[in-house]
Amino acid sequence: MQKIRTFGSYLQAKYGVRVKKIPLAIGGFTCPNIDGTVAKGGCTFCLNDSFSPNVAKNKDKIFLNLSSQENPLIESQLMQVVSQINGSKREFKPLGYKKYLAYFQAFTNTYAPFDTLQKLYSKALEEKDVIGLSIGTRSDSVEESVLEYLSELSKSHEIWIEYGIQSIYDETLNRINRGHDAKNVEMAIKRAKEYGLNVCGHLIFGLPGENQEMMLNSAKAAYEWGIDSIKFHPLYVVKNTILANEYNRGEFTPIELNEYIDTLIKAIEMMPKDIIVQRVTAGIEDDSLLAPSWCGESKNYLMGRIKQELAKAGYRY
Ligand code: SF4
Repeated sequence: MQKIRTFGSYLQAKYGVRVKKIPLAIGGFTCPNIDGTVAKGGCTFCLNDSFSPNVAKNKDKIFLNLSSQENPLIESQLMQVVSQINGSKREFKPLGYKKYLAYFQAFTNTYAPFDTLQKLYSKALEEKDVIGLSIGTRSDSVEESVLEYLSELSKSHEIWIEYGIQSIYDETLNRINRGHDAKNVEMAIKRAKEYGLNVCGHLIFGLPGENQEMMLNSAKAAYEWGIDSIKFHPLYVVKNTILANEYNRGEFTPIELNEYIDTLIKAIEMMPKDIIVQRVTAGIEDDSLLAPSWCGESKNYLMGRIKQELAKAGYRY
């Protein structure tokens, strides 16, 4: 049985204790694909509240972007960093976690003035037992100054940058209104690697118009571009999104669980052994889910099914 390298096992081996990634959703951030800088409306599947439970609590009226001159939200944002980290620590410490990574997850977490980013990232790192950062962002939204800063931080901290790759097919990226092409992601990953940063790539299986061969080609390309870690997600349809309209008009058929698992296993089979798998599925357990229904199953059930099928293929996760 071949053991798949997980993020938890990587961190535990490196730091000797259990390390938990704490998702943060800091109010005031937006995304260039939502605010009109790149496009409006965002990716067709995006209802950002569905990615992180903290987002809905932190909706601010002023959104930051790179052209913001001043940031009137900074004090409130710094307080959110501290309170969200400490809230999660209270939850995870009793479970045996001793160290933490602050995961800037919701929206585009490099899409703000450099001064703001520097303050927020360093605030997170000042918190006790926070040993590093993971920054979720888009490939078209990371300035050189941010890469330089993260690279400097990585000399003394565990620093990750997470890019949404989703697909390497430009026709798919256009169809989901991604706002950048595959070349842009390839260049961003390679650039981050030149700065010595750890890169996690996100892939979505089941995007409109894609067959299994295309999904696997995206995985293969992501490995070749030099990612250190990967998150696999199925595409699911959330109500009140552009994708929901496409689904309701019958223009898009969601991926079935069996096909998803089969694709996942094939993607893992072709994956270099040193790549760390951070996620093998995703779902949403509330009534905002429109389809496919299996994405509304409990995390335990889905992980059970996936682990069972991985075991049949000779993998332990
Ligand atoms: S890049 Fe992320 S936050 Fe921006 S529209 Fe797409 S899914 Fe939403």
